Amino acid sequence: MLDLQKIRADFPILSQKVNGKPLVYFDNGATSQKPQVVIDAIAKYYQEINANIHRGVHTLSQLATDAYELSRGKIQHHINAKHAHEVLFTSGTTHGVNLVTNGFASLLKSGDEVLVSALEHHSNIVPWQMLCERTGATLKVIPMNEKGELILSAFDQLLSEKTKIVTVNHISNALGTINPIKYIIDKAHEFGAAVFIDGAQAVPHLKPDVQALDCDFYAFSGHKMCGPTGTGILYGKEVWLNKLPPYQGGGEMIKEVTFEKTTYADLPHKFEAGTPNIAGGIVLGTAVDYMNEIGFENIQAQELALLEYGTQRLSAIEGLRIFGTSENKTSVISFNIDGIHPYDIGTIIDKLGIAVRTGHHCAQPIMNFFEIPGTIRASFSFYNTKEEIDSLVEAVKKAKMMLS
Ligand code: PMP
Repeated sequence: MLDLQKIRADFPILSQKVNGKPLVYFDNGATSQKPQVVIDAIAKYYQEINANIHRGVHTLSQLATDAYELSRGKIQHHINAKHAHEVLFTSGTTHGVNLVTNGFASLLKSGDEVLVSALEHHSNIVPWQMLCERTGATLKVIPMNEKGELILSAFDQLLSEKTKIVTVNHISNALGTINPIKYIIDKAHEFGAAVFIDGAQAVPHLKPDVQALDCDFYAFSGHKMCGPTGTGILYGKEVWLNKLPPYQGGGEMIKEVTFEKTTYADLPHKFEAGTPNIAGGIVLGTAVDYMNEIGFENIQAQELALLEYGTQRLSAIEGLRIFGTSENKTSVISFNIDGIHPYDIGTIIDKLGIAVRTGHHCAQPIMNFFEIPGTIRASFSFYNTKEEIDSLVEAVKKAKMMLS
């Protein structure tokens, strides 16, 4: 059992008032709040070791390089990657997707197929569309059912020798569905296709084991898991990272440069051109440590309790419909109230101090599937409480009364 009072004290923002009311932060799917250790680690880096990495002989540069590489090692350990050089620092999930789609442009040709799921965030759709436009490959969509689950029999049918890569999120940001990625990875591999997993919404809730999953790529953002914005990780199997060309050219990513020809550095540097977000990379390691200290079993138990309680309390409101009703889901409740626009509810409950997300959640195809403009999404984190859910329920009831 988590000591919630103690945990909440780790997050200074949670004791704030917003619009004169105690903040209830239920927009964790968009970004998580940051514990004091993470905030302090950012200041400590700039106060004590700020220097550029991988190039200086001086002490500070070496300290900064060591801290950066130590963090890479922590993340390698956290996701159980075989090698540290399979762990690339990025600016976030979007960067990771684009790095891979850019690389695949040199591998795909007309007639090849890319499979994407119906449950994706725009950042795991648009770069693949751009890749298909560039190469003449065809984008095919794994459909979903009314519960917001992927239809695996349709996936099986779509797979063929033409399939070169399958891309799917581990957990849907709009509905919270946990996708059966192990099945998808194994099936795709039977056809020789690579698999890219968008783990943006998974890493705040679970510890992915990339070797057990056997995925070829796994991307995530630091800011959704207690880390700073502008940080992220792309895990890639060594064999794939060696096959793909660099994403960006610049300093740090080269072995030798002449005007005739440039040779590229070994992994991971081949994909890390320019001065990175050094403080962010180091502090992402601090965030990973913090979450591991809390413990993912504890995180999951608390979030499941919140999901069950929230689902039961919200569904008791007349006219409220929940979208995403898989038994396999994380602590996200996406809902609408009959005849009321989600934006109107969101605006009223904000005045009551409650932060939720309203809209299409960068997943317009999901909204089109349900024929709705958007939803109200309450996404819970381990630091949220049942009392906060009570406040949400009361606020939604009030908004409903005002708008009906
Ligand atoms: N994929 C999913 C499932 C997401 O939820 C998000 C963030 N909302 C992204 C990708 C993009 O992440 P970022 O904006 O941090 O690059």
